[in-house]
Amino acid sequence: MMKQGMLVVVSGPSGTGKGTVCEKLLAETPELAYSISATTRAPRAGEVDGKNYYFLTREAFEQKIQEGDFLEYANVYGNYYGTPLGKIQERRAAGEDVLLEIDTQGAMNVMQRCPDGLFIFLLPPSLAELEQRIRGRQSETEESLLRRLGNAKKEIAIGLKYKYVVVNDQVELAVARIKSILTAEHCRVDMNQDLFEVLEDEKRK
Ligand code: 5GP
Repeated sequence: MMKQGMLVVVSGPSGTGKGTVCEKLLAETPELAYSISATTRAPRAGEVDGKNYYFLTREAFEQKIQEGDFLEYANVYGNYYGTPLGKIQERRAAGEDVLLEIDTQGAMNVMQRCPDGLFIFLLPPSLAELEQRIRGRQSETEESLLRRLGNAKKEIAIGLKYKYVVVNDQVELAVARIKSILTAEHCRVDMNQDLFEVLEDEKRK
């Protein structure tokens, strides 16, 4: 029987660099499939529908909520973001690991629905660094910046519920740590019962 792929959830407060880390991780791990989220926020320059996100109207998004199309969804700073369920099931059933890069509310909901997921929390090296990163985006008013920073500080404690924590001090190092976690998870005995069965069969011959 085909082994089911892992559901890998990378999450953490705003400004920890989830997007950059996941982009590099995906580029270096071709066998890892990315779950493209849906959102009601407007595309940013260079973003492509169906690649970065599925960009939906609020009505279309709410319709999908009604139809139960999302594994989870959350309202992040006034816009909806959601993880489409169908493709994840297909890919995992085909043995592929699927990566979700989502906010902490979404991750908590996935934890309820898929406790077998691999939950990785990304932490900033310090609060000062987190503030610098959020300021560096320059897309924020002072008010929204302070709101994001306040939320980010509160969200740090949520990390205690995850299985792994990775400090994003340098992108390359954070990616290397996540790759090591994936390798270790693939070596778990309970993920590899089939290897033992093959050898048991061979012994019997
Ligand atoms: P951005 O608008 O900067 O692309 O993303 C804003 C936040 O939404 C980030 O924290 C990102 O991880 C989160 N996010 C992206 N996709 C999803 C999703 O499908 N579900 C949830 N809950 N959060 C998401």
